[in-house]
Amino acid sequence: MTFLPSCHDVQTELTEYGEGALPLSRRIGIWIHLRFCKVCAGFMRGLRALPGLAKIALGPQEEAPETAFKILAEVQAVLLKQEES
Ligand SMILES: [Zn+2]
Repeated sequence: MTFLPSCHDVQTELTEYGEGALPLSRRIGIWIHLRFCKVCAGFMRGLRALPGLAKIALGPQEEAPETAFKILAEVQAVLLKQEES
């Protein structure tokens, strides 16, 4: 099982993501996805432009417990592996 969400996952969960309603690991997965996927990043920008959703936060920086760093390290490892293959 991978914690990195697909484009479909990201787009269906963006609203909850913006509200901070998702578990931290999920939010980090989406945050990372948005860094690498122009389609979903554009989707996010569209959502942020909607009234009432203007306060969508772009990242989990406000809480950075050990698990977040652990997950980020795992992501880095995955990305490095992908670059090699
Ligand atoms: Zn995407």
